[in-house]
Amino acid sequence: MASGKTEQNEKGLLHPEVITPEDEHDTALRPRRLTEFLGQQAMKENLDVFIKAASSRGESLDHVFLTGPPGLGKTTLAHIIANEMGADFIETSAPALDKPKDIVGILTNLKEKSVFFIDEIHRLKPAIEEMLYIAMEDYELDWIIGQGPSARTMRLPVRPFTLIGATTKAGMVASPLVSRFGITCRFSLYEKEDIEAIIRRSSHIINVAIDNDAAGLLARSSRYTPRVTNRLLRRMRDYAQVRALPSINLEIVAEGLQRLEIDSLGLERLDREILTMIIKRYGGGPVGAETLAISVGEAVDTLEDFYEPYLIQAGLLQRTPRGRMATPLAYKHLHLEQKSGSGAAPELF
Ligand code: ADP
Repeated sequence: MASGKTEQNEKGLLHPEVITPEDEHDTALRPRRLTEFLGQQAMKENLDVFIKAASSRGESLDHVFLTGPPGLGKTTLAHIIANEMGADFIETSAPALDKPKDIVGILTNLKEKSVFFIDEIHRLKPAIEEMLYIAMEDYELDWIIGQGPSARTMRLPVRPFTLIGATTKAGMVASPLVSRFGITCRFSLYEKEDIEAIIRRSSHIINVAIDNDAAGLLARSSRYTPRVTNRLLRRMRDYAQVRALPSINLEIVAEGLQRLEIDSLGLERLDREILTMIIKRYGGGPVGAETLAISVGEAVDTLEDFYEPYLIQAGLLQRTPRGRMATPLAYKHLHLEQKSGSGAAPELF
């Protein structure tokens, strides 16, 4: 898995699960307030109510569970919640919490109403998860001192706080933990209009103008994922700047995407190779994941975790019990003829 991530750094701009140093440093693009957070309307309206209600009661916000694919704004929203509550923000990620003392140290030092954000919460160790249960419910911690028969349990108080847990894999979070979150926000891919609005906001911040049709093409090619959108926008700014153009226009985006080998559905070269392989070598499928991975020279994990999710979401690939199949849309997108009986059947409805 780790090797997949390094490879991706070299390979793809379109993979939001890989965070580049440039992404990390570009904090100017990260919205700070709920009003600057674009899209995800229903979720935002609910949160707004809960935040206002908790603030007016002078209480900490209920614990919040954030789920959804990478790059959609979970960390950003966690920061925003703290800002809106006027609360301290303490951030960690589950793999960094190795021993119970790691979490005891953080929790016992929290100020009242602080927001404590744990990313990748599906990776918490069981011993730490159990400590969190009591902390979340009763604002207390059980701390075991000593070992063997002389071991004693000490109850330590924790000031009322808000735990925000984020995950890309909601199904892997233990249900007793899930049930202790009072508020759940499920992120879905953004609408095209929302991504266009994010492009306008970001381009204003990085001080570059972009034409409407250029923003439309960029939105479609960036997998409806803000992290990817911002990355591509920065690349397009480079192209426009080198050409000394006053704004990013459609031509620059089309040319820039071509240079980056990204097409209008947000596919990169390897995405297209996977689909072409299924169609040309395996008659449209079904073909097993292992065979397919070997054919395109990738590890099965990389194929399943990095490439397939978007291809499936974009309606280009189907996972069936007998293997992977190319859909009619994949044939159309690649301008390949679908012979009857090959690939997945067209959807009836
Ligand atoms: P996640 O934690 O889900 O992986 P992030 O919160 O790190 O995603 O978001 C990635 C980047 O995308 C942020 O730094 C921000 O610039 C941008 N972004 C995310 N959501 C929004 C949004 N709703 N409006 C504007 N920009 C956003």
